[in-house]
Amino acid sequence: MSTPSQSNTINFDAAKLQRLGFPGQRQPSLKPVTLIELRRELALQLQTTLDIERILELFYRQVQRLVPLDALSYQQASSDLRLELGGRGNHSAGYRLSHEGEYLGELLFRRNQRFSDDELAQLESLLASLLFPLRNALMYRAAVQNALRDGLTGTGNRVAMEQSLEREVEMARRHLQPLSVLMLDIDFFKKINDEHGHHTGDEVLRAVASTLKNTLRNVDMVFRFGGEEFLVLLSNTQREAAAMVGERLRMAVMELQYLVQGRALDVSISLGCATLLAGESSDSLLRRADNALYVAKREGRNRLALAG
Ligand code: GH3
Ligand code: MG
Ligand code: MG
Repeated sequence: MSTPSQSNTINFDAAKLQRLGFPGQRQPSLKPVTLIELRRELALQLQTTLDIERILELFYRQVQRLVPLDALSYQQASSDLRLELGGRGNHSAGYRLSHEGEYLGELLFRRNQRFSDDELAQLESLLASLLFPLRNALMYRAAVQNALRDGLTGTGNRVAMEQSLEREVEMARRHLQPLSVLMLDIDFFKKINDEHGHHTGDEVLRAVASTLKNTLRNVDMVFRFGGEEFLVLLSNTQREAAAMVGERLRMAVMELQYLVQGRALDVSISLGCATLLAGESSDSLLRRADNALYVAKREGRNRLALAG
């Protein structure tokens, strides 16, 4: 933990609300306790869950039995994690959390009233109870995320694809929005493996995956469907717009310069594009995209075909 920094900005909106008698969003207070008792209770409670949000909510609530707060924010830059609890506060005390050199994120306590030295010492002591539960929850979160990624290409895997597809189909139905998918497959990939070896094949797969991710805006919508096949989910996208995205992907892969022994390898993809029909199942949508892909292959590869 690094040393706390108190800041003294005045927030006029919050100050005005206070003058008008609005108390802010403080949780109903629990019975006050001593520091030792609270540390013991926290140690027990925080280990009951692996959910980071729940851990921080419990911590925020319990800490206030000793040190009243107006807000708590937490962020972990490397995992895009950001949580805000409570309202606002003009004064803040921030801590960079780490355990044995491992970065666990940053925590900021905020309050309208300045923190006393005693209170800061108590907060620091209570923070110690947060470190292990937080580290476990971060590890668990990373494990869950890894379970949904394809190890070779870093795109979503088949499990993630099925979850996302079900969710997107459901959303499209509920909000009457279009949903399109692109099923794509690397052309003559077996030849790349045969001529340059499996390792080069793997590298080409990686290069194609990263081209897809870089070309698309929402990287969470690219999945490795099978060996050298990928599926792209395009939410709220009509047929024509989806075909344009597909064309952009096809061009981007063609422009990919993958060098083997100083010579650029020709890599191309074929794509099948399908748009969800009223009342259609996700299986049927995938089948139509796959049929369209087959047409694109049959008609000469390095092209996109639209599903009928
Ligand atoms: P087409 O243009 O018709 O798609 O021809 P193709 O050669 O790409 O198609 P085919 O389905 O015959 O071959 C796909 C090859 O992809 C066969 C398989 O060995 C290879 N493959 C599948 N997964 C991997 C992988 O993870 N790494 C590597 N290097 N090769 C893979
Ligand atoms: Mg292929
Ligand atoms: Mg294939």
